[in-house]
Amino acid sequence: MKKIVIDHDALSEKNIEFKKEIDEIIASEVAPKTQDMEDGKINVWDVLEPLGKKGLLGLTYPKEMGGRGGSYFQDMLLVEALCYESLVYDMVRGSSVYPAGLIRAFRREEHLGKYIKPLVTGEKKGCFCFTEPDAGSDLSRMKTTYKKDDDGDFILNGEKRFITNGSVADIMCVYGRNGAFIVESGFKGFEMLEEYKLMGLHGLNLGHLKFTDVKVPKENLLFYSELKPKTEGSQKKRTSAISSMQQFLGPERVAMSLQALAVAKRAIEIVIKYSQERVQFKQPISEFEGISFKVAEMVANYEAGKALYFRAYQKAQNPALAATCKLFIVTATHKICDEALQIMGGIGYTNKYPIERLLRDIRLHRIGGGTDEIMKYIIQKDIYKGFNRQIREDMEEEVEFWF
Ligand SMILES: Cc1cc2nc3c(=O)[nH]c(=O)nc-3n(C[C@H](O)[C@H](O)[C@H](O)COP(=O)(O)OP(=O)(O)OC[C@H]3O[C@@H](n4cnc5c(N)ncnc54)[C@H](O)[C@@H]3O)c2cc1C
Repeated sequence: MKKIVIDHDALSEKNIEFKKEIDEIIASEVAPKTQDMEDGKINVWDVLEPLGKKGLLGLTYPKEMGGRGGSYFQDMLLVEALCYESLVYDMVRGSSVYPAGLIRAFRREEHLGKYIKPLVTGEKKGCFCFTEPDAGSDLSRMKTTYKKDDDGDFILNGEKRFITNGSVADIMCVYGRNGAFIVESGFKGFEMLEEYKLMGLHGLNLGHLKFTDVKVPKENLLFYSELKPKTEGSQKKRTSAISSMQQFLGPERVAMSLQALAVAKRAIEIVIKYSQERVQFKQPISEFEGISFKVAEMVANYEAGKALYFRAYQKAQNPALAATCKLFIVTATHKICDEALQIMGGIGYTNKYPIERLLRDIRLHRIGGGTDEIMKYIIQKDIYKGFNRQIREDMEEEVEFWF
């Protein structure tokens, strides 16, 4: 059994069986297709649809919803196994099932339950839309709005860009300044403006979307608050809707960290093998400290990242700890992939080995889900605030602080 991020020695009998099953599925049905996806010969959904039929897209959803009723721990095993192969698989899977997760988080199954099963089985494709042309890191600049019409339904206007699955999605979770709704791509007024070409993550369909007077039925509401005239005028003010959506960013960042760890492990394994086989100056290059010390540093950063991941996973709702986790792990993984390519010399720069792909793919994680700079901003803000709270003399009870 392939040992990746999670300490497999600690697996229960049930999880050993599960891990064996997914390793086999990935070896026979996923890995052989990755290069074809990279080369644009097949679509990522040619790989994911069969997984959906096996209940693996929404593993933690109950069987009646198209999942397997699996545990979050099993989902971690699946994430690492998929990302060891390619980040694209898990990014597309996670984004697609996201609207189903939100329907459940806001207890909207009664009206919106019809969307869950098709998303979880992969029969329909989903996406989530925060980012806009004028609102990337600063979501308080979001211009997309919902307005109630005379029938009690809602009229959506706005533009969203850099949306994973955006150009192929059937069911979208669209955030606006004052709420979030489930929107179908078949609703009148929806337009797909563009599909971006990407530096890495080939196979991921990244879309730029426009919504013009789209009538969204009231049943499709996830959460909504009336825009107050003051908030409408002042683009800077954060609405309660924007605050609601931000609670999902911490868990997303911790999940992205696990994706990155799987990539780091793959890069380290490739380079350990290569550096022992490649002979220059009459010896394997692994015998040069200039090379083996790089590997030692990679391993040290990877192990530190793993420890941080498990701490942040326990407290994924803590935004600053989630930001610390993502910042450390994705920057370390990016460096690991870059150093791995360096160790491989010219062949690393070709596509004979997947290193160049891993390096291109992981680059996104320093931008998507919040940039490195925004992670630093979140960490320092919380650290100063927490320290200042702790040293206030008039404090009656001790305040719990993560750092
Ligand atoms: C492949 C891919 C997939 C994506 N998937 C999705 C998706 O599914 N859904 C979705 O909603 N979005 C998605 N995104 C969007 C992604 O989350 C944004 O690109 C990201 O949040 C950054 O926003 P921006 O690109 O507008 O950059 P900007 O916000 O314009 O930032 C530009 C630069 O300014 C820096 N900067 C900004 N503010 C500060 C500050 N206060 N201090 C210091 N530096 C600062 C940034 O760090 C960055 O270096 C995706 C993006 C990509 C590329």
